Amino acid sequence: MNTTNTDASFDLVIYGARVLTVDPLLGEIPNALLIIDKGRILNVSHYDSQIPLPKAKQTLDLSGRVITPGFINVHTHTILTMVRGVAEDMGFAPAYTPGVPHGHDVSEEEAVALARLGAAEALLFGSTLINDSFVHADLTLPAMGELGMRVITCGRIHDVDFTRVHQGIWQHDIAIGERRLEEALALHDRWHGKMDGRLGTELAAHAPDTCSRALLEQVVNVRDRHGIRVNGHLSQSVKENQRIAEREGMTPTELLDDVGLLGSQFTAAHCMYVTDSDIEKIGRSRTSVAHVPRGNATGGRIAPTTQLRAAGANLALATDNMHGDMVEVMRWALIMGRVQESAITDNWQPHHVLEMATMGGARALGLEDTLGSISEGKLADLVVFNFQRPHLVPLIDALGNLVHTAQGRDVDMVICQGEIVVKNGELCLADQDDLLDQAQRAAENLWARAKAQI
Ligand SMILES: [Zn+2]
Repeated sequence: MNTTNTDASFDLVIYGARVLTVDPLLGEIPNALLIIDKGRILNVSHYDSQIPLPKAKQTLDLSGRVITPGFINVHTHTILTMVRGVAEDMGFAPAYTPGVPHGHDVSEEEAVALARLGAAEALLFGSTLINDSFVHADLTLPAMGELGMRVITCGRIHDVDFTRVHQGIWQHDIAIGERRLEEALALHDRWHGKMDGRLGTELAAHAPDTCSRALLEQVVNVRDRHGIRVNGHLSQSVKENQRIAEREGMTPTELLDDVGLLGSQFTAAHCMYVTDSDIEKIGRSRTSVAHVPRGNATGGRIAPTTQLRAAGANLALATDNMHGDMVEVMRWALIMGRVQESAITDNWQPHHVLEMATMGGARALGLEDTLGSISEGKLADLVVFNFQRPHLVPLIDALGNLVHTAQGRDVDMVICQGEIVVKNGELCLADQDDLLDQAQRAAENLWARAKAQI
């Protein structure tokens, strides 16, 4: 029974679905009743068909469906969808690779078209929040937010001349860094908390090798003065480690520790080439790690996640670039954790990776009190999966099916802050064909210009 009612007490009532709450007190509810009002979850309980449903503007019977909290993807560069299908096989991150389109090549219009593509893909696959960073953030942030999801973003903060990094030249100019920091603050003043609180900003300190020590110190200063959280890449490559060893005589983690960046206000992406002492520093400081298992495994390396978690780091999940499927990322995190341990152990079970994709992400962004689980009082960010598909039957253990065989494209409906923003697997607030056309055109133009420069 799906009904709408104008004479009602609540905005939305959902019943009949199996709900994986990720709330330790609630666990999995096989047949749940959810009451949602003004964007928040008012009630999560077992559905009793003997008791009349509460009155609501909209009532959804989601029998046979599986609901999870919205996924929180803590590290993305949506514009880099432009290099997917190519850059995965070129050896390294696009910014360091010659012959591909780069951030400084992207026009405002192209940035918006490609950001909307990456954001739409993430949302359709169940991410209700992405933490993005790249170029033209002032335009891409509202453009992505208009799809109905939560977006936190920032332009890349660096003081290296990015037009030369892919040629292997690191030339720092603090004036570039100061401009990027001013832009980040202007972005924060203009957009943080807008669109009913769905938009936010962080400080994206790009990486230890693209930021001078002086710039990193300024980032710490701005963080403390303005209360803005920081994210960045950390030990993403041997090249980065070598560069920091030459420049500073230490590891990238030691540099970030030295300037005061490590800690619960910081999310470090990758952390692949870290020493035992680095792991201890990351863990002790309660730094969050944006683990990118699929993207990194494609490049042949993976972060030492079991050790990082044991040391005290908060583990969250991310797609980084080229794709936006957090279901696949959960699976890769579990599989790669087991490959590292050469066994199935208690360290890597489905509940660990679902926690990383939801509460781990919320913690990394300082939003654990309002997002990350289906709990009373939290914001209503929900993903509804259709498990009535051959690869998801029999439904004996929903969490097992979700992590081992489901895909992002099994998402049927996405609810963000109580609003249905994806229905029947399609965007509710944008024309998907138009969005795809514009992204395709932008990418073709960028590739044509990149090839002309070789
Ligand atoms: Zn990245």
